[in-house]
Amino acid sequence: MPHPIVRFAPSPTGAIHIGNARTALLNFLYAKKHHGTFILRFDDTDVERSREEFAQAIEVDLAWLGIAPAVTLRQSQRLPLYHAAAERLRAGGRLYPCYESAEELDRKRKRQQARGLPPVYDRAALELTAQERARLEAEGRRPHWRFKLDQKIVRWNDLVRGESHIDCASLSDPVLLREDGSYLYTLPSVADDLDLKINLIIRGEDHVTNTAVQHQLFEALAPSGAAAVPAFAHHNLLSSATGEGLSKRSGSLSIGGLRDQGIEPLAVAAAAVLIGSSIALHPIGSLDELVASLDLEQISRTQTRFDPAELAALSARTLHGLSFESVRERLAAHDIAGYKAKPFWLAVRGNLEAFLDVVDWWRIVEGEIAIAEDADSGLDADFLATARAALPEEPWDETVWTAWTKVLKERTGRKGRALFHPLRLALTGRDTGPELAALLPLIGRIKALARLSARAA
Ligand code: GLU
Repeated sequence: MPHPIVRFAPSPTGAIHIGNARTALLNFLYAKKHHGTFILRFDDTDVERSREEFAQAIEVDLAWLGIAPAVTLRQSQRLPLYHAAAERLRAGGRLYPCYESAEELDRKRKRQQARGLPPVYDRAALELTAQERARLEAEGRRPHWRFKLDQKIVRWNDLVRGESHIDCASLSDPVLLREDGSYLYTLPSVADDLDLKINLIIRGEDHVTNTAVQHQLFEALAPSGAAAVPAFAHHNLLSSATGEGLSKRSGSLSIGGLRDQGIEPLAVAAAAVLIGSSIALHPIGSLDELVASLDLEQISRTQTRFDPAELAALSARTLHGLSFESVRERLAAHDIAGYKAKPFWLAVRGNLEAFLDVVDWWRIVEGEIAIAEDADSGLDADFLATARAALPEEPWDETVWTAWTKVLKERTGRKGRALFHPLRLALTGRDTGPELAALLPLIGRIKALARLSARAA
């Protein structure tokens, strides 16, 4: 296969959710893996429902996930391309005007169903004479336009689902243009895919039927002799933990919502890609790790439930393994910088539930601590005085904790929790937390002495 040119084509009608992120990531990672091109295309021909704010929010969400499109397009700015495509179809006799109202179509469908027939459009409009059309137009009717399907079986080798086929005789000729001249999704999508030389379409399996129709449109619109029809890969869909479909408009499991909950982007990406595949969900340190394991053939063919509870745990495990380099800028955004930033990150990352927990731990290392009263903590003045006296001189490194507590153990006879817990409480104001061996050198001797004194007062 030549270098893949793929696209993610959301309609900007709401916030993207984890299921949309799955489509976006599968495309982006596939392009990355095969040195291809990833294009972001906003399907915004529906002026009623599309909003520029949604498009911008989708760009923010994709960037947060680490997805960087090579090109971003808006269909609303490419209408001449679609007009030209519609003209070509008309000239070839493949696009025909229809005048039935929604109610008339509905009545036809009901009659067909009553007679046990499939509700396929009967092509009555193809029989209209020029005079009949003129009369309908004189009544004030405006046509919508249907694509005349070849009644044949369309076959393709789906990269996820394998050999696939759809009998177009069982489909209604699809409406490509509404009465008001606006386009439904089908024609602009194919015109753009041709114009941009998209050679692989990875999208949800809710589009399988569209593929048969689009196959015929690709053939009808492709410049003669060109390899017209792209390859297709239809992945399974994610549903909520209770089995409902995810919806852009309801905002369920939206990417922005997960971000606001403090979920790590790499955890969202891992979940979006690995759930519903044969690879077990596991924390990742970069998107490149997903690239390595990406295999469209490993995607399961059944709908997969997505449990947000799993995501919180995965997010914490993701944080525990992140390198300093990968979070350097995020730490700096919270003024966590300088020579202590790296040892600090390595000391605390294993204790984080959410990234923002670093702010508290940084304050504990660099600022003031709140002193929690705890009757059982063993913070008696004698013990703390001994601890202060035994505190080694600087310079300190990670061995200072062991050296210090060894002396304290000898001098006080304390060991285990009775020895360590009061020190933790005095030094950090917390019951639990990162290894003190790593924290103590960051806190430093002056602060450590002050905190040991404060507790003894
Ligand atoms: N706008 C369509 C959607 O959001 C794009 C489908 C496609 O990838 O062709 O479902």
